[in-house]
Amino acid sequence: MNHFDNISAALEAQNLDAVLLTSAANRFYASGFFIPGEDAVVLVTRQSGACFFTDARYTEAAARSLTGAQLLELTPKKSLSVHLSEQIFLKGIRRLGFEDAALTVRNYERYQKLLTDNKHACELVPASSLMLDLRKTKDPEELSAMEGAQRISERALEDILKEIRPGVTEKEIAARLQYLMLHYGASDMSFDPIVVSGANGSLPHGVPSEKQIQAGEFVTMDFGCVYKGYCSDMTRTVAVGHVSSEMWHVYQTVLEAQAAGIAAARAGVSGKTVDAAAREVIAAAGFGPYFTHSFGHGVGVEIHEAPNASSRSEAPLPAGAVISAEPGIYLPRRLGVRIEDVIVLTEDGSRNLTRAPKELLIL
Ligand code: ZN
Ligand code: ZN
Repeated sequence: MNHFDNISAALEAQNLDAVLLTSAANRFYASGFFIPGEDAVVLVTRQSGACFFTDARYTEAAARSLTGAQLLELTPKKSLSVHLSEQIFLKGIRRLGFEDAALTVRNYERYQKLLTDNKHACELVPASSLMLDLRKTKDPEELSAMEGAQRISERALEDILKEIRPGVTEKEIAARLQYLMLHYGASDMSFDPIVVSGANGSLPHGVPSEKQIQAGEFVTMDFGCVYKGYCSDMTRTVAVGHVSSEMWHVYQTVLEAQAAGIAAARAGVSGKTVDAAAREVIAAAGFGPYFTHSFGHGVGVEIHEAPNASSRSEAPLPAGAVISAEPGIYLPRRLGVRIEDVIVLTEDGSRNLTRAPKELLIL
């Protein structure tokens, strides 16, 4: 899978001759080949193809999987600067997009020096938002990778539910979830799993601790994995032993809020509208101040990407965007509940990529 053609078409609309991709996420989105850190650069031009620059540690692997780009090896004699000057000259690049949201100041200065020293002067133009916009809309191949990642997470969840009982620690559950996702085919985690129980449940992004699960507590697990380069993300909150009427009430409110947000979500509405639909349900139940984060975020190559569904997201959501639907209620030092699915937006609604049940489960 590569997206060179989409990028070339977007360059035309922005009047750019090419874009230089330096972040691992955008290099992967463009080429379908993942190299971490700063060990590769991808140049995508409007009309003269794409180049993938990397060194001997990666060239064989890149040659096996790369399609649609020329692979150029970086060597001590022929560094990135030399290669780039050559390509900029050969391809007549005058306006070159760069990743303003990801490039360090030091590297920006290096590129600027290189490009202005070049006798065919070339202008650097910020292009991070162009890439973020392109990545908002997922094509069928991307969606199938994301569904694959989701299925793996759900298999891990099914297994872990059999292991949650009083005495097991949050850390043990987090470790098992990671093992299970890798076992079922994940290449990596999308982020470190969050496993919080009882009073720790009010920490939306709490770190799993040595605390043991006890009867009468909620356990919230927020986790996801990477499959074929794309992330999954899901949260389930389950109870152990028994629940109080307050716990039941909080859980049902979160579930209803999630359903309201999902029902409001479709292409063309703003993220703000979706967030508000869920927030109203929580406020009406009297828990307004305890829903302390936004309803959702985009998911894709990265676990958090555009577009968002927050109270500040004014722009209409595009069809094909994948966003999380994750309302929560957090009662400080007492308990917390969050339920999270990921949905893909369509013209008339959304399709839920998450299949795991959401009715309150008491283990
Ligand atoms: Zn999550
Ligand atoms: Zn999320």
